[in-house]
Formats: sequence, C-alpha cells, structure tokens
Amino acid sequence: MLQRTQRLIAGKQMPSQARKPKGDLAIDGGTSVRSSTLPYGRQSVSESDIASVVAVLRGDWLTTGPHVGEFEDKFSTVVGASHSVAFSSGTAALHAAMFSLGIKPGDEVIVPALSFAASANCILYCGGTPVFCDVTPADLLIDCDEVERKINSRTKAILVVDYAGHPCNYQKLSAIATKHKLPLVADSCHGLGGTDQGKKLGSLADLTAFSFHPVKHITTGEGGMVSTSNPELAKRLKQFRNHGITTEFRERHEKGLLSYDMIELGFNYRLSDIQCALGSSQLSRLPQFLERRRHIAKQYSEKLVGFSGLAPLSVRVGVEHAFHLYVIRLDPSCWSVSRDQFLKALRAEGIGANLHYQPIYWHSYYEKKLGFKRGLCPNSEAAYENILSLPIFADMSDQDVDDVVTALGKLSDAYLL
Ligand SMILES: *Cc1c(COP(=O)(O)O)cnc(C)c1O
Repeated sequence: MLQRTQRLIAGKQMPSQARKPKGDLAIDGGTSVRSSTLPYGRQSVSESDIASVVAVLRGDWLTTGPHVGEFEDKFSTVVGASHSVAFSSGTAALHAAMFSLGIKPGDEVIVPALSFAASANCILYCGGTPVFCDVTPADLLIDCDEVERKINSRTKAILVVDYAGHPCNYQKLSAIATKHKLPLVADSCHGLGGTDQGKKLGSLADLTAFSFHPVKHITTGEGGMVSTSNPELAKRLKQFRNHGITTEFRERHEKGLLSYDMIELGFNYRLSDIQCALGSSQLSRLPQFLERRRHIAKQYSEKLVGFSGLAPLSVRVGVEHAFHLYVIRLDPSCWSVSRDQFLKALRAEGIGANLHYQPIYWHSYYEKKLGFKRGLCPNSEAAYENILSLPIFADMSDQDVDDVVTALGKLSDAYLL
C-alpha cells in the first residue's frame, strides 16, 4: 500500500511541493495532511453577489418586493418550469409542496429511507404518513419497483430524492405515477442543474423542491424554491407561504386594496428581497459552479480507480449528475477498521468528510415516537454503514482534491487488509 501512496504522490497530479507521506496517521499522533480542515461543502460568495445584496438594502423593498419575482422567473428558466415559488428554506418548500397537494391525516406518501429527515418531515407536518421505500444499492436512488409495490388506496403522492445530485429514473417514475394517477414530487435539494434524458430537474415532476442552504449549489443563506408547470399548484404554493392570504402586500399597495382575505392556514415562509437578490446573482454563476463540481468529481473518480476497498457510487447512463455530494462506499471486508473509525481518521487528517444519511426512520423521533422498526429498508441500512461523503464545493482547489486523495492513501496504507 505504501507503494501506491508514493506513486500517487509522485504522480504528475501532485504539485512539486507535494507533501511527503507522513507515515503515521494524524489520529495516532502523526502530522495531518492539512493544518486546517477542508469542509465537505461551503458557499462561494463573490463581490458581485455582495454588491447585489447591498443594492437591495439601499432600496425600498427588503421583502415582498420586485426581487422575489425576478429570482423566481430566472429560476423557472434555468430549471425549465413555468412557475417557481420562493420559500424561506428547502424544508418550507417541501412542506408547501405537500400542502399544495392536500396531504392530510390518513394519507400515505412514499418516500426513500435514505435522505435528510426533512424529506419525510414535510409529510408529517401535514398529518400524513411517510411510507419508507428502499433504495437500489448501486446508486442509492429510490427503487422504482418497490415504489409500485407500496402503492395502495391510501397513497396520495410519491416523493423522490435526487440523492447526491444524481437524477432519479424519471421515465420509470412518471410511468408509475401516471398509471396510478398519483402526483410525483421531487426533493431536488441536491439536484439543481442535473438532467435526466436531457430534461432538467425542476421539469420532470409535478412539483420539485430545491434548497439554497450554503452547502447546496447556490445559496441565499437560508432559502428554497418549488418549481411546477401547474398554475393551480403555483397559486396554492404562493398563498401557503403568505399565511394563506390571497393577495401579497405589494399587490395591495399597488392596487390600493384596503383589505385581504385568509382562506387557508398558511405560514410566513417568504424569502426576502435581500435573499432573492443574492439568489439571482448566485444563479447567474450556476454554470461555473456545476462545471467545477463536475470537474472535481471527475478528478476523484480518476484518482480513486487506483484504490482498492473503496469505490464511488455508480451513475446511470443518460443523466447529467449535479454532484452536490461525492459519495464513496467502503467494502467492509477490505478494511481493518469500521467506517466510523475510518471517518474519524480522515477527519483527523483535516478532511471534513461527512455521512449522508442515516435512514430517516432510525432517528429517535421516528423510532420512539412513531414506532418505525429497524429492518424496514435493508439496502438503505446496509449502505449507511459503509458510505461517506468526500468534500466537494465550487471553490475547492485542485490542491484540496489532492489532499483528500493523499489522506485516503495514508488510511489505505494503515488500514487496508
Ligand atoms: C438540504 C436538504 C433539505 C432541506 O433544505 P433546507 O434549505 O436546509 O431546509 C431537504 N432535503 C434534502 C435532501 C436536503 O439535502
């Protein structure tokens, strides 16, 4: 194994001042590959992003102003939808998606087990029941055959997740949804910029939710969006984010309307003009962000070919992956340590690798309060034991990528059987 690390370090991908193999792992008291930790994800904020925010602060409308609609329209163009409605977070966007479909107590919504808790929490917010569906081992995307097996008379929607930025199989999913007359909802919080068969995420489901948290493709600090091509759903989404009131403040201001009517129990889930201006500016940088993420993923994939005992997830032919995450899987039979020990050792080297995700129903709330039992989705559970996410974000340098590979090499030398 030492030989391979030396080869990697001597290889042309390493700059001339490349670090020598340290031998001892940082976790055992050796010198770490990096002196400061490389995060798994972070925002890229430019001077022009900052200027666009400052301009709003000098204007009249800090919220419910013109920047909201501008951001929404721009976003619709980017994702190929006819309507986009901005929300205060990706979670609020998912809640709104479930509300707009009328999910209520007694209704079941099918959702993959391997995702962020918000993917299923949004069903609970509406009183609905999440029905956890397993993922396929190769790509950790929802298992379409199992989706169909879980459909019954109580099923009211199918919610899928473009895990890591890898688009689900929308051809299959749309066929299932159409056949059973069910709405298809996409949690594309990882997927902005991804495509399936040349079609953009945002145009492939009845409702698609996005997040603008700082680790996602573009950021507004906190923020989210739902895209749809259904005008009725768009109207319900807009009312929901504004307390269930039928008109917005600026509209009443401009039309001289004196009163308003609240027709649903909505929330204040608005995204401010300050945030929308940042979102518009970030959105114009999305092509570069995607290019950089894909380039980093390509470098990882090329460099990891030389490693045994670990491999990236597979990518389906016909998709363009958005690479929110770069997930690798350890083969437990190849390593002398557990995934947790491996992750700890990697972090000690200054590589901020992370875990995405524990099966949702393993969380205490789902297990203890709602009574979900372990064993429900064996592929999700097995995957969780062996996966980890390597750092990937737009401002990550080639040297940063090399540091990750160097750290993996050190761990291989120490822990590969
Ligand atoms: C980030 C994320 C969310 C929630 O988005 P927030 O903007 O953080 O509320 C939901 N689902 C998935 C899969 C996510 O990664």
